[in-house]
Parts: sequence; structure tokens; C-alpha cells
Amino acid sequence: MGSLKIENVKKAFGPVEVLKGIDLEVTDGEFVVFVGPSGCGKSTLLRVIAGLEDSTSGRVVIDGADVSATPPAKRGIAMVFQTYALYPHLTVKNNMGLGLKQAGTPAAEIDRRIGIASSMLSLEPYLERWPAELSGGQRQRVAIGRAVVREPKLFLFDEPLSNLDAALRVNTRLEIAQLHRRLKATMIYVTHDQVEAMTLADKIVVLNAGRIEQIGGPMELYNSPANEFVAGFIGSPK
Ligand code: ADP
Ligand code: MG
Repeated sequence: MGSLKIENVKKAFGPVEVLKGIDLEVTDGEFVVFVGPSGCGKSTLLRVIAGLEDSTSGRVVIDGADVSATPPAKRGIAMVFQTYALYPHLTVKNNMGLGLKQAGTPAAEIDRRIGIASSMLSLEPYLERWPAELSGGQRQRVAIGRAVVREPKLFLFDEPLSNLDAALRVNTRLEIAQLHRRLKATMIYVTHDQVEAMTLADKIVVLNAGRIEQIGGPMELYNSPANEFVAGFIGSPK
């Protein structure tokens, strides 16, 4: 299970309101992509969902339960960042298992989950290596693997391909799509790349200056943009 409901979420940093009332429903197993220009509030919205940032008002509901006051580690969420955020002093295997170890998961269960995730992501040859020995694409796969082993209800990806070169972006995008099919997990994915949005999304959420401009399937937005902003973002190749 991994349904999400966001109700009138607002977030201000001091006097600046960055999220101006976001309402959104994500059904279990859906792949939802947030798109919008730099600074429109995509990362802030992900961080509010993850609990890394408190909203100023509104509610975040996961599987019917209000988690607005639930700490990040207890929300059943795993997040993948643009910068991978691996620990340089831990091997690939220990990077993947650290969160589970901290949560008190038995070692045999940690090993079992790392075995499955590393096979899905073709990481078996690298388990005893250090992050510094890996390419950017491999590091991002480790970060994705670290999310997978936690068996979250909800995966959050914040521009996970932005630091990769063009060929790796395509490969890693396909791997994420395959992961979604295999795990049937709910995924929320932030990008400013039109191709990523169109190819990955069941549903695209177009954000602009802290508000949602339109929500719809890729072809729906492409064929029937609600306004010029959406047309400019989805319609024109960049
Ligand atoms: P996006 O991910 O869409 O590029 P962000 O959510 O990172 O946008 O940022 C939205 C706005 O909120 C930006 O103007 C940014 O400067 C501001 N912002 C984000 N985090 C903070 C923070 N911790 N303190 C103050 N302002 C912030
Ligand atoms: Mg961002």
C-alpha cells in the first residue's frame, strides 16, 4: 500500500510563501511526476511529504493516516537525491544496509534484501567497493538500491538523473521505470526534463510558483494544456 493525499499544504520560509496551497491525490502504485521551473517548490513539496520539512499548514496523509506529525523515519518513505548522498567511508553494501541496521533489522534479513536489490540494479559486482570507486551512474544505482531495501510505501526521487550524462540518463531512467513495474510501488519523481516526465509518468503535476497549474496524464497535458504555461512546459521541446 502507498496512497498519498496532500491537503491544502502551505509552506513559508520567513515571509516567503513557497507552497501556496497544494492539493493532490496519488493512488497506490501510481508513478507521479512533478515538473516546473527551478524554484517553483518541487523539492520543498517532496521534503514536506518526506517529513524533512514541516508544512506551515495543511495535511499529509499516507494510506489514510495523517502523518503530518510523524518523523521521517516512520513514514514508510525513501528518498533518492540528485547528489546520491552516499557515505564515502562505507562500502556499497554497508551504504545500502545502514538504514535497516539503524532500524534494528536482523543481519540475515538485511543481507536478503540487499541481495534482491543488488540483483535488480546489477550492483552485485560492486557490493564491496567504495563509493569513490564508482561512476556517477553506479553511485545513483546504489542510492536507488538503498531506497529499495527499505521496502518503502512511497519512493521520492528529486531530479535523480540531473548529474548524469545523456546516455546514462536514458539507462537509469529505464531502470527506474523497470523498478516501478517490478515493485508496483508508488513513486513520486521530480524533474525539469520533459522527456523524463512524458515517458515515466502515469500522471504529471505541473507546478508554477508554489501552485499546481494542471494535473493529468502525459498525453492529456500535451493535447489539452490548461494554459500557456503548461503548453510551454510540456508542449515545446527544450
Ligand atoms: P525547486 O525544487 O522547484 O527548484 P525549491 O523547492 O528548492 O524549488 O525552492 C522553492 C523556493 O523556496 C526557492 O525560492 C528557494 O530559494 C526557497 N527555499 C527552499 N528551501 C529554503 C530554505 N530552507 N530556506 C529559505 N528558502 C528556501
Ligand atoms: Mg529542486
